[in-house]
Amino acid sequence: MIREPAPVLAPAPWLRESSGELRVTAVRTFLCAPQGCPYVIVRVETNEPGLYGLGCASDPQRTRAISSVVDDYLGPMLVGRDPADIEDVHRLLLNSGYWRGGSIANNALAGIDVALWDIKGKVAGLPLHSLLGGRAREYADAYTHVDGDDAGQITEDVLAAHERGYRHVRVQVSVPGTDTYGTAPADAVESERRRLRLGSWDTASYLRHVPAVLADVRERVGTGVELLHDAHERLTPSQARQLVRAVEDAGLYFLEDALAPEDAAHFAQLRTAGSVPLAVGELYSEVGQYLPLLEQRVIDFARIRIPTLGGITPTRKLVAACELFGVRTAPHGPGDVSPVGQAANVALDVSSPAFGVQEAARFTDSTVEVFPGSPVPVGGRFYPSNAPGLGVDFDETAARRYPVTAPLEHDRWALLRSTDGSAHRP
Ligand code: MG
Repeated sequence: MIREPAPVLAPAPWLRESSGELRVTAVRTFLCAPQGCPYVIVRVETNEPGLYGLGCASDPQRTRAISSVVDDYLGPMLVGRDPADIEDVHRLLLNSGYWRGGSIANNALAGIDVALWDIKGKVAGLPLHSLLGGRAREYADAYTHVDGDDAGQITEDVLAAHERGYRHVRVQVSVPGTDTYGTAPADAVESERRRLRLGSWDTASYLRHVPAVLADVRERVGTGVELLHDAHERLTPSQARQLVRAVEDAGLYFLEDALAPEDAAHFAQLRTAGSVPLAVGELYSEVGQYLPLLEQRVIDFARIRIPTLGGITPTRKLVAACELFGVRTAPHGPGDVSPVGQAANVALDVSSPAFGVQEAARFTDSTVEVFPGSPVPVGGRFYPSNAPGLGVDFDETAARRYPVTAPLEHDRWALLRSTDGSAHRP
């Protein structure tokens, strides 16, 4: 559902004096789902006619909670301020509640923060990557997804992606008897499982099956394409060590999320179990969660998610730290990150020496219609926009044709159940 525009808010009385003339006049949120999953888009408007910034605050499960934080709490604090003072505003909004952070508050903050960077670029007449230091590369390599249950079919799909220009492909393998990544159980089976509160996930089967398929695919595709795999935080630390050893033959570009955030202290042991590069971070909602991993030098790729980290302002500092500690970035960018968020990713990617690879979703025609200027990979590469700011616009009228009609199906994804009925964390 597209929210009715919020009323223009009066400036907060505790505003400090600013030297500039430009002022924020309104902060609005829009919910829409042209990609299928819900997006939360933030628009920060100014007293300069036609000058506004856009930010992505998308979290597909908690859209209304996030838009409420923007509409009812952060937005009113921003109205009347100079949008140029991004560091000051970010610090104010982050610390204003005393209890700071968390993914909902950070997503809301990120929507505003990215919009302020968009405004800064438009005022300067410069693309965002130029504000972040300029081009460190001409384009950002993207990776696409292949899911399946058969090594032969997966190989065909990987090679087809390679034909389209992708040099990096994430391969997810469905495990016989489970209902993840490419296999769905019959409706009757699923409904009976739900009635009995039983699931199909079995980590032992995953550990037996997936490494063998990945090694098979590697042998079939040869060495001309990079393969990535995401374990999706479903392993215990000892199971993660087994997986690291078991995937050696697949020659992965990286193994993602072998450990859940709660088990991050085990990365040091994972490091010594094998040579596969380790990626983690899409669930991290605080920059500080990365710091022990950087300092201990136990990961290789940071799966940064700009909305969840609170915007470009904190994320660019993390990216700089990654560069200093020899960790590459692999920003999160599936379909639940809007084109506005993806444009922010690409700006960071092309401006940082630490960049590794960018996750890409195939935006639907509807999404591109709602977001003119959507970043779309060409030949497996994202080329940065040279338009001022993010280079992406938002067509509010078109967005109304794609309302958010239902929440994302939580229980099939977040509440995966094991065969004994226990809830399994994603
Ligand atoms: Mg992941």
